[in-house]
Amino acid sequence: MLKLSGLSVKYGSYAAIQEVDIEVGNGELVVLLGSNGAGKSTTFKAISGLEKPSAGSIEFEGTAIGGKSPERIVQAGIVQCAEDRKLFPRMTVYENLIMGAYVHRKKKQAVKQSLQHVYELFPILHEKKENAAGSLSGGQQQMLAIGRSLMSMPKLILLDEPSIGLAPLIVEQMFDVIEKINQEGTTVLLAEQNANAALRIADRGYVFESGSIVVQGTSQELLTNDEVRKAYIGA
Ligand code: ATP
Repeated sequence: MLKLSGLSVKYGSYAAIQEVDIEVGNGELVVLLGSNGAGKSTTFKAISGLEKPSAGSIEFEGTAIGGKSPERIVQAGIVQCAEDRKLFPRMTVYENLIMGAYVHRKKKQAVKQSLQHVYELFPILHEKKENAAGSLSGGQQQMLAIGRSLMSMPKLILLDEPSIGLAPLIVEQMFDVIEKINQEGTTVLLAEQNANAALRIADRGYVFESGSIVVQGTSQELLTNDEVRKAYIGA
């Protein structure tokens, strides 16, 4: 479904990622691991059209999308849920969700169904639909950010550190929901520092170090890889 080949991105003369090869199959849940600054967010930004690749290619369902505009990429079926959530704090939960369906604004019935689906996944968003987004707790805001991304009816969702800054119990709920979203048919590419929890729900993973992929494998392989355990799982 998604194929990155030799993908490199530079900020000025600084090479943030170099020759990254990643494949994500239709229906898979794939995780990108790595510490702060290793290149996960930059990879996401290149896929979603926010940064232009300096080399390499990005193919989605057989079509080259590298360097296309973010709007074209959302229309193609890829949505990014960024680490900083980018909600509109003074708008209501409902209004934030509707903004996520912007590319489908003419398909009223489909948007209604999507909204229903998001409220089923996150009942708290239904309960608080008239509240300002900025009044929600951190975990609820993260749920809103994911819900808003789902409103674009993506085939592939890019989740950038959805567990960051959340209490352990909420993190657990977050991973359960991500697994559910995947089981319902949306392909997921997840960037996480919480390697243990992420590998428990993922099919496969890639480990980034200083802008390159250093290890890849099935979740089982990564969970039992000594280096991965030492660096990211702490065992
Ligand atoms: P994080 O979890 O902190 O987001 P990451 O693995 O996603 O980490 P990136 O954000 O992709 O890492 O950063 C990769 C490298 O590029 C880092 O060295 C970072 O400092 C640098 N970088 C990121 N964004 C910019 C930018 N806009 N301008 C210059 N350098 C940047």
